[in-house]
Amino acid sequence: MARRALITGITGQDGSYLAEHLLDQGYEVWGLARGQANPRVSRIRKLLADVRLVRGDLLDQGSLISAVERVQPDEVYNLGAISFVPMSWEQAELTAEVTGMGVLRVLEAIRVCSGVSRGGRPSGGQIRFYQASSSEMFGQVSETPQNEGTGFHPRSPYGVAKAYGHFLTQNYRESYGMFAVSGILFNHESPRRGAEFVTRKVSLGVARIKLGLADELRLGNLEARRDWGFAGDYVRAMHLMLQAAKPEDYVIGTGRMKSVRELAEAAFAAAGLDWERYVVTDQSLHRPAEVDLLCADPKKARVQLGWEPKVSFDELVAMMVESDLRLLTDGGDPDQESSWP
Ligand code: NDP
Ligand code: GDP
Repeated sequence: MARRALITGITGQDGSYLAEHLLDQGYEVWGLARGQANPRVSRIRKLLADVRLVRGDLLDQGSLISAVERVQPDEVYNLGAISFVPMSWEQAELTAEVTGMGVLRVLEAIRVCSGVSRGGRPSGGQIRFYQASSSEMFGQVSETPQNEGTGFHPRSPYGVAKAYGHFLTQNYRESYGMFAVSGILFNHESPRRGAEFVTRKVSLGVARIKLGLADELRLGNLEARRDWGFAGDYVRAMHLMLQAAKPEDYVIGTGRMKSVRELAEAAFAAAGLDWERYVVTDQSLHRPAEVDLLCADPKKARVQLGWEPKVSFDELVAMMVESDLRLLTDGGDPDQESSWP
């Protein structure tokens, strides 16, 4: 019988790539979808026709219990979150509820449906759980590169909420013997990345300028450095973590850092343009507290899971710029969503 996976955040960037990867592996894939008339849900129905949908919301404990009861999954991937850092200052409480408490609700749904009792000996249960932890938990870093042992100093309500979910996942593993793991993933991007994130904002900006639809691109802090990889590579790591013999947490990244300035330079160059002619820095786009740099040490994942990224930074940037040029040339609406090649 096919293994069954339930993915929260199915309408997001990672949800789509993970669903495709699991379908390729022969899984029966279910996605948790929220809202009464969520336009992203109808898009998923069209684009991922083989994914089955179940209603639920990370804010609603009962809906998560019903979803787990109905799907009877072998594996649950919790990718749902408010995931944009600036939004987490504007709606800090909602971020705590969805990105932080949402993890508790999914873990409780699994615990209850697996019949894992409080008190007594840890009995585990059969459902394996993946939590989408984030390098934003490292925040103001105490060492570079960052590995599984590096301490956390989150710099945004998003980072704090992710740290809560991370520790809670560890705690359910230790308290109940559950197969519950966190992937500490560094920034990963693709043509499906939300337009609010810097890589996609840059690739869309370059495409607009190249096609004569805009004449400048406004950015915030050009000196921030990130370890950017390709989302399609990172979802393979999520799956591998749940196939491991023992539940453990892993850092996933490329081990290479680039600045926002270098990102802009590479993206404009991919379209044959000089970034310095078009990029305007805008103080209002700076954050109340910045994460200056993030760089992964993914050695553990390489050694224990055999995981390595395949797409380089330059290939990723070229892929995103080409995709957005195609999207805008074909009259697509980037505000409606990503290009979904
Ligand atoms: P996206 O922002 O693209 O997707 C977020 C998903 O969460 C959407 O499907 C959204 O659904 C869903 N969601 C939001 N609120 C709720 C809710 N109340 N109940 C149920 N679902 C909800 O994120 P990514 O795909 O990029 O990231 C996936 C996960 O990995 C996130 O948890 C993110 O924080 C984390 N992460 C991402 C990194 C990255 O670089 N991409 C790095 C490290 C961690 P809807 O369509 O209904 O809004
Ligand atoms: P994050 O690492 O999850 O916050 O991913 P983002 O893509 O949102 O931001 C990455 C880095 O780019 C952060 O340090 C931002 O401060 C920086 N940055 C600079 N200009 C911009 C901008 O215009 N938009 C966004 N989203 N980030 C920017």
